[in-house]
Amino acid sequence: MGRIHPAGSAELPKTADVVVIGGGIAGATDAFFLGRHGFNAVVLERAPQLASLTTSQAVACFRAQWDDPDYAALVLPSIAFYEAFEAETGLRDWPIGLRQQGWVFLTSAADGPATLGRFVEATRNFGVGDSELLTGDEIQRRFPWVSERMTAASYRARDGWVSPYEVVHGLARAAANAEIYLGTAAVEILTDGDGGHVTGVRTPAGTIATERVVIAAGPFAKRLAATAGLDLPVTMVRHHRAMVAPQPEIPAFGPMTLDTDTHAYWRPEGGGAFLGMGQDEPGSEPVDPVPTDWTFPAVVMDAASQAVPFWATIADRLTSAEISLAAGQYTCTADGRPFIGSAGSAGPNGLYLHTGDNGWGIEGGPESGRRLAAIVAGEAPDDERNPYRLTRATAAADAARTTTY
Ligand SMILES: Cc1cc2nc3c(=O)[nH]c(=O)nc-3n(C[C@H](O)[C@H](O)[C@H](O)COP(=O)(O)OP(=O)(O)OC[C@H]3O[C@@H](n4cnc5c(N)ncnc54)[C@H](O)[C@@H]3O)c2cc1C
Repeated sequence: MGRIHPAGSAELPKTADVVVIGGGIAGATDAFFLGRHGFNAVVLERAPQLASLTTSQAVACFRAQWDDPDYAALVLPSIAFYEAFEAETGLRDWPIGLRQQGWVFLTSAADGPATLGRFVEATRNFGVGDSELLTGDEIQRRFPWVSERMTAASYRARDGWVSPYEVVHGLARAAANAEIYLGTAAVEILTDGDGGHVTGVRTPAGTIATERVVIAAGPFAKRLAATAGLDLPVTMVRHHRAMVAPQPEIPAFGPMTLDTDTHAYWRPEGGGAFLGMGQDEPGSEPVDPVPTDWTFPAVVMDAASQAVPFWATIADRLTSAEISLAAGQYTCTADGRPFIGSAGSAGPNGLYLHTGDNGWGIEGGPESGRRLAAIVAGEAPDDERNPYRLTRATAAADAARTTTY
């Protein structure tokens, strides 16, 4: 079992098999799977609690609908892990807010049936046999609230969402041999004289000697990597989440709904809904907390109303007391894939990365942590067979590959 030490309640150990920096979904999955490999992992979390930065802001949806092998390879096993969370972790009576209410992509494009038809077909390549192409009246028959302008939908009934707070706390608790220190910032990753090997982690409460460090610090990964002489090629991009209080129009058992025309999405939550939207935001420095822009709720509800007209009705009568707003930062890579593995030739030996979530770190979290731990243990390849290796970042062929949605 993992032990969680509140800020200042225990002395840091002098040594560790592995130090994991960050207590979000990435750090929690790393600690859990490192424990399965027999490592004593020390997790350092700067905040006074786990899952408090990006992970706490997530809408936390997952989908098996991917048309790219590298995304599917992380997400499909992660969904299976969430579906079997208690069996996987050995925890009893540990609900993780798993709701499989579906995920629907919508489009109003004239060629929507062809485009989404190809997308659904592509998911079959990864053994996803239950995604569906919906066209014409079938869309409104399933989802009466969707505009008749929509020409096609891709839908999978068993996609859904989890509660990331419960997931992270469950993993931390179930992580064998993990010691988790809250309120403890890693200040510097130490290396030997010529920067060839990791030797420890410096914190305000002392230094931990270790030969292995995993950076799982979300938007702050780049800063930490720099202390070890590694220039991590990631960009931090703000992403908002609006929460709307219960409204009669919102179907409590409806699916995650994403309009591929506007990139606005929403899903039910407690009688109300979470809304988000892919927007063109500039890259920025990592920040905590992430500032919010109060024009966002109006913008996202307007965009969401293109596919689901009730959002215009709700927006018209909504009071500010019925909206709350939050934001986090996606940690983005050039080709949209995460970094999972060692720093390779770009950094010191013993430095590992689990970062570059690109906004889907919850849905790919468990399999990412499993792969990271297997690489640390030397039981999985960390060369060109690892599609998430850091050193692929400059490879044009990889950068050119992308998923449709
Ligand atoms: C609005 C929004 C909606 C999203 N929706 C989804 C979704 O539907 N599905 C999905 O899969 N993903 C979603 N995401 C993305 C998801 O939230 C992230 O991919 C995921 O939370 C990243 O987790 P992480 O552990 O890498 O980073 P974080 O959660 O940011 O964790 C990093 C941790 O490291 C700590 N830390 C930083 N520096 C230090 C230091 N020096 N020492 C010690 N600790 C340190 C931080 O305090 C933090 O707790 C969404 C994100 C946002 C913002």
